[in-house]
Formats: sequence, C-alpha cells, structure tokens
Amino acid sequence: MIGYHGDFSILISRICTYSTPSYFLVYVLATSVTQVEFRNYLLKALSAVDRQAILPHLAEISLERTQVLFEPGDVVEQVFFPSNAVLSIVTVMNDGHAVESSTVGHESATPLLWGLSDVPSKSRVFAQIGGAAMCMPAAVLREKAAESPALTAMLYRHAASLAFQAEQGVACNILHEAPARLARWLLMTQDRTGNRSLPLTQEYMSVMTGVQRTTISAVANQLRSAGLIRFSRGNVEVQDRPALEAFACECYKAIRSEFDGLQRR
Ligand SMILES: [Zn+2]
Repeated sequence: MIGYHGDFSILISRICTYSTPSYFLVYVLATSVTQVEFRNYLLKALSAVDRQAILPHLAEISLERTQVLFEPGDVVEQVFFPSNAVLSIVTVMNDGHAVESSTVGHESATPLLWGLSDVPSKSRVFAQIGGAAMCMPAAVLREKAAESPALTAMLYRHAASLAFQAEQGVACNILHEAPARLARWLLMTQDRTGNRSLPLTQEYMSVMTGVQRTTISAVANQLRSAGLIRFSRGNVEVQDRPALEAFACECYKAIRSEFDGLQRR
C-alpha cells in the first residue's frame, strides 16, 4: 500500500485499490477538486474545467527504482505524471545496448505523443529514480483532450518541450565533452528530485549519458577531483551546485529554460 505525501490536502471520499502486473494503483475520488495540490507542473497548470474532468481518473502510484513501465512495442495504456519520481526514456538497439534520449520528472508527463496517438511505445520507459507519480488511462486522456482545446494545446506544448529536450540531447552527445554532459545530466536529475544525494551507479550514469562504461569512472572522477560531486557505491552527491552549473555544457540552461517557460504559462 502506498501513502499520501503530505501535500494532498484533500478530503477523500473514497479510495479503491487494485493491483496490476506491474504497478499498484490507488484511485482518489475527492469531494472538492479545488483542494488538491499536485506536485506535477502539468497537472498544476490545468484549468479548473480540465482539472474537474481529469481528477477522477488519476491514480497515485509508487514506482520502484529501475521499474520498467513500457518496453518498445508495448501498448501505452497509462500516461504518467511524475511527482518526485524521475522517468527515463531509453532507445534500445537490437544488440541490447540502450541510451537515454530524455528524462521526465515533475515538470511534465510521458509518454505524451504515443499516448495521445494511441500508438505503441517506441522506447523503453523506466523509473530512473523511484518515487511517487500520478497516472491515468491514455484512452481517457485522449477523450478529455478531444473535448478541450485548452487541454490539447497544453499537452502538445509539453510534447514539444520534451521533443526539444531529446533534440538538444542528440546535439549534446555529439558536440560536448563527456564531463560537461555528465554535469548537465546530474543537474537535471537533481532539479527533478530536489535532493543533493542521488541514488545512481556508474553503470547507470553510463547508459544515461551515452558515455562508455569503461570511461564513465574517469569522467566521474574528473568531477570529483574538481570538488563538484562526491560518490560512493550507488550514490552521487552534488557537492558544489553553482560550480557544477558553471562546469556543465550550455544544454543544461537551454533545457532548464524551456521547462521553466512551461511552468510560467
Ligand atoms: Zn551539451
């Protein structure tokens, strides 16, 4: 059973639970939707009308670290709105090699385009950092979007920002040095969790940054030697955030600015 996380100051009239093969859902039916406070910025930005329409279909879930939500080819039955979980979208090659194309935390939702298009996922989506998220059936989201031009516009605006993140990531992987890319990725992950300490192994960072497993250790050591991070087995701690920002490539500020802009809308 999962619990509520403090900021759901709502009167819950009924909670029904059931389990699925991959995750456990708790549906929330609130007596007053105006009392619900979301951590997810897309959900926060819903108009009162869209909020009223969507809330009864939202479920809160608890995701374990490394939990896979979709494999390539899977039907997108649910769309996920992370609260403090961080989800990773990964492209998987035929030989099993995988590289992250984008990350989604509390600033948005995934998989938006596949969910809205009713097309199977082309990527693996998994919990890079475990935690709470909201989810709702993709079919219901399509139905609600068809009834609301404002909701449709918001969902496509978020999808465009996520596409921008992936495009910037492609350019970053080609043009920027591995230490600056790792700094960018750690900053983005910290932004999404709000924690100085991140549960990440070097093997994990290798997949996420596209840096070879054999060299990620040297790359991480470079950041540690500069006093930017500390790490121990399975854990990375940001030691000097301003210096890490100064060290990161320009892609960090470009992506951060895009999502900050979404939150101001
Ligand atoms: Zn870059």
